[in-house]
Amino acid sequence: MFEFRYPYFPTAKTRSILAELTRDLGSPVEFPLLPDHVLEIFRAVLDRREDLEFNLAEPYLFLSYPIVVLLSSLCARDREFEFLRYYVANFYAKQFKRAIRVDPNPMEAITQIFHALGLQIFQDPLDPYLSIPLLSYVRLVAAGGDEQARLVYQRLRGGAIRDLEMKDLQDLLREHLRRQIITKIATNTQQESRGIFTNPPELELTARVRDLLLANKHLVKTRETVHLTREMWPPCASNLYGRIGAGQNLTHHERVFLAVFLLATGATLEEAVEAFSPAPDFDERLTRYHLEHLSGLRGKKQVYHVHACPTLRSLGICRKASDPVCRKFMIKHPLNYYKFKKKRKMTGLAKK
Ligand code: SF4
Repeated sequence: MFEFRYPYFPTAKTRSILAELTRDLGSPVEFPLLPDHVLEIFRAVLDRREDLEFNLAEPYLFLSYPIVVLLSSLCARDREFEFLRYYVANFYAKQFKRAIRVDPNPMEAITQIFHALGLQIFQDPLDPYLSIPLLSYVRLVAAGGDEQARLVYQRLRGGAIRDLEMKDLQDLLREHLRRQIITKIATNTQQESRGIFTNPPELELTARVRDLLLANKHLVKTRETVHLTREMWPPCASNLYGRIGAGQNLTHHERVFLAVFLLATGATLEEAVEAFSPAPDFDERLTRYHLEHLSGLRGKKQVYHVHACPTLRSLGICRKASDPVCRKFMIKHPLNYYKFKKKRKMTGLAKK
């Protein structure tokens, strides 16, 4: 059933099923494994795993989703657990991708999702591709999407975005979902969360999740080493690093620049991999593979160098306007900026 398979795109029916089922939520007879299932989801979130250790019937997946989101809201109010917003959102975005991949009728599912979101989508009889009316498209990417989703890259014809393939739609929906969950976790009011978790079994579950988070804090890599040098970074690199931290995907050129910059300023391969970890499409194996290429450990064994400022400007990566050092000292290369700041820091320390 659509509602069970895609609980994160709720329909009117979702709400009525949820109301019906949650009447029994406190009853260990109906859903005895629900607390364990919720805990397993948090474990997978912490490990950045997509697979759950046990497979349960769809009602469990359906029921656990709002509970995980509400518990994340409760926990993410503590600064040390703020990361949950992005980790949980990324987890469900990946779950969606998997669900649509194994869906026997993905086109029908996508159409239903669009309806659930109050958006339109259509297919011309003679056209294998799909189209989204402009207004629906704008609403879909309103919270910001990947670079490729920008209107400027789309084919606009007859008031609709044309020539969309299934993969484009999946990417658009995945990104939309991810952003919705981040916002939901951040904005669930205290009352909303507390109002639901008032019964002893639910309070116990909240305590167990907190214990789990506290016991596994070490699994959340903090990107600390990078933080130590970041005050010396030029705004172009800092901006990209901050955007990844906020769970945004970067374009190819942005990734390559940041990766090469990190390596050039002394980050180890592991630290550089970790710097990319909050990205929604983060794949540890692939990131390490690319970094090994860029640092000359693979392929042609060629070490890639950091682009100079004019190239970064033409790629839209430069943030000179926001920084007095770039403007005043006519910086021509990001590494010059870094060396300049480093020297100034060392001189300052020596004077103390
Ligand atoms: S001027 Fe150079 S160092 Fe400064 S933001 Fe632009 S690209 Fe970066």
